[in-house]
Amino acid sequence: MRKRAIITSALPYANGEIHLGHVASTYLPADVTTRFLKMNDVEAYYICASDDFGTPIMIQSEKEKKTPQEYVAHWNKRDYDDFTAFDIGFDFFYRTSSQENIEFVRYVFNNLVKNDHIYKSEIIQFYCKNDNKFLPDRYVTGTCPYCKADDQYSDLCEKCGRVPEEIENPKCAICGAVPVKEKTIHYFFKLKNFGDALYKWLDENQNLQKDVKKYVQNWITSGLVDWDITRDISWGVPVPGDESKVFYGWFDNHLAYISTAVKFLNDKGIDGKEFWNSADIYHFIGKDIVYHHYLFLPAMRLGIDQEYKLPDFIPTRGHLTLQSKKISKSRNWYIGLKEFLEFYPADYLRFYLVSINPYSQDDLNFDWDDFAVRINSELIGNLGNLVNRALGFTKKTFDGIIPSPDDYDDKDRDAEAKIMSLASELSVLMSQTILIAH
Ligand SMILES: [Zn+2]
Ligand SMILES: [Zn+2]
Repeated sequence: MRKRAIITSALPYANGEIHLGHVASTYLPADVTTRFLKMNDVEAYYICASDDFGTPIMIQSEKEKKTPQEYVAHWNKRDYDDFTAFDIGFDFFYRTSSQENIEFVRYVFNNLVKNDHIYKSEIIQFYCKNDNKFLPDRYVTGTCPYCKADDQYSDLCEKCGRVPEEIENPKCAICGAVPVKEKTIHYFFKLKNFGDALYKWLDENQNLQKDVKKYVQNWITSGLVDWDITRDISWGVPVPGDESKVFYGWFDNHLAYISTAVKFLNDKGIDGKEFWNSADIYHFIGKDIVYHHYLFLPAMRLGIDQEYKLPDFIPTRGHLTLQSKKISKSRNWYIGLKEFLEFYPADYLRFYLVSINPYSQDDLNFDWDDFAVRINSELIGNLGNLVNRALGFTKKTFDGIIPSPDDYDDKDRDAEAKIMSLASELSVLMSQTILIAH
């Protein structure tokens, strides 16, 4: 463990409220880890930002008759307020649409061009004549070409976790019409160039979760595909020299881990780049974005000669289910964080989610009965009662002042030793569960 650390969580997309699923898989484990590192005298900073760009935000802001800037400003504040109410202690919460990030994204792109990792290619893109729009990513749904699952996004199959090269049976996700194909020029990142280097990096890094590593290496062995990194929309980071196009959200958003950390550190009078490269880097993610964090993100850093080092830890967590059913906002099966905290204190939820978190990719389940039992018997029954009785006894018997003790007998010394060793035992367990890969 280095004496410096930067911790990030997957960036919340600025297009809707934070729910229990988000905090269970990434924000709470990252927050607990940051607190643990700080208690162990690690100079640790927890950095996050709202993910502001992309088609869904552009379309939703149009519907609400707002500019995209106004729209994301609303969600940036709301997300931050909800996280704060849940006691998530970011050292800095910023946004991917910051000037610093826009400049950094363009800088990285220019360096990738210089290192010959980018090319232009004419592609056929779905276009909806009904909506008069190119339909990138989430705006085309269809059948996954790999696992044949229906009703999947064209940029991510939620069933098998892969990024389809071309979705089958396409439909416009806005109006349902069958889209037509139109020609356009896109920029591509030569992901294929990085297969060997990525494989080696995965092999050598002992801190990455073994279960995840294995299937990412299988993807690499079965052949990587060059990655389309631009979109024909107006809301995003403009491509240098070709400003009518913008970068795909997954090209720019993870660069905000770096640009946000560097801005925060530089503002504190610390050399941000030097700190980044001498720190342990943690990226906490949910298992749905493994592809982006184990392939795209490291490949891009390799492509700029590791000017900013690769991550040391990518803790990858499973999804939260609610009453054993998959959380779905569209089917209204979720609990908003803000609403939950109107009924229960933040510590109830923190205690419960930490106690059921498996530190692996396995899913975890929020169950109301289990929640009630754990809070009543463990948090209130055991911990709360101990504190309450000790304080109550002190008040009643000693007027609230703890008297000086008599000489310790064996039982006292035994109890004292147990209390003293608790912190170090706990520390070892925390290191094992959080920091060491399984
Ligand atoms: Zn699939
Ligand atoms: Zn349409």
